[in-house]
Amino acid sequence: SRQTVRTMAESARELMRRGTRLIAQSGIDSSSAALDSRRLLEHFCKITKTDMVLNPSVTPKPETDAQYIRACQRRADGEPLQYIIGSWEFMGLEFEVNPSVLIPRADTETLVNYILNKHAVCEKTKLRILDICCGSGCIGIALKHFMPQSDIVLADISDSALNVAQKNARLHKADVTVVKADLLLGYENCFQDGEFDIIVSNPPYIKSTDMDFLQREVLHEPRIALDGGEDGMKFYRALALLWEGALKPHGEMILEAGYDTARVIYSLFAECGYSEITTRRDLGGIVRLVAAKRGSGYENNN
Ligand code: GLN
Repeated sequence: SRQTVRTMAESARELMRRGTRLIAQSGIDSSSAALDSRRLLEHFCKITKTDMVLNPSVTPKPETDAQYIRACQRRADGEPLQYIIGSWEFMGLEFEVNPSVLIPRADTETLVNYILNKHAVCEKTKLRILDICCGSGCIGIALKHFMPQSDIVLADISDSALNVAQKNARLHKADVTVVKADLLLGYENCFQDGEFDIIVSNPPYIKSTDMDFLQREVLHEPRIALDGGEDGMKFYRALALLWEGALKPHGEMILEAGYDTARVIYSLFAECGYSEITTRRDLGGIVRLVAAKRGSGYENNN
């Protein structure tokens, strides 16, 4: 009867349909809305797709349904899914995230894979690697996870980001060093000459003028992690010019590039006398990585 229907708790299926509608109404396309609402249901109600298939009338625990709907509302208001659930996967590992760090992107796995492909096999080589602008720490911690013999230093200018990186290091039992450093000031205050085999970084690289036109979700991410100055090149210039000395003689700098900046970064390294400049594409075919080895020094004598 009508009475029983009304007093019966809403099933997870019905709840999820309601959540999906809420998210889709905000203009998010319906397939993403369904994926996001499912992910939120898993997180807040601990009910998976499998649970719902095996038991079509499975019902969320009291309170969790309201938490779930509130989460869907936040998503509908444009908050990234990753901040709502507080974590995201990178290189198959789960990283804690909050609005003080950039959300790990699959594109950035290009950097980690480049290093692993080159070095993971030689288990005896003990590399010292600096991940500068580390944010959540996902690059450096993933490297430590897959190359436990390496020495990893995570550095960032943001205290709140360093807190997240530290938490993630603990979460993954990664024995890494976490250091506060301002990339624009150069390495001398924090690091030794010739200290690193590798400097890896995903620095801020969005042009300041593009900052106001970012996707609604990206506007929730820290500006300090995105804004690369007038031409988006500010941090690359500082890295190329001020951080070469922190590399060992054959040390390599490995940087993430924006969708249209690889060419400019390549020229910058060439101009600064680096050698063996290399690029790699991400899975979407975009040149996402530029790597260059410390120059021999001859260039400076011409
Ligand atoms: N890939 C990010 C974006 O386009 C930017 C990351 C960065 O500036 N390092 O949203």
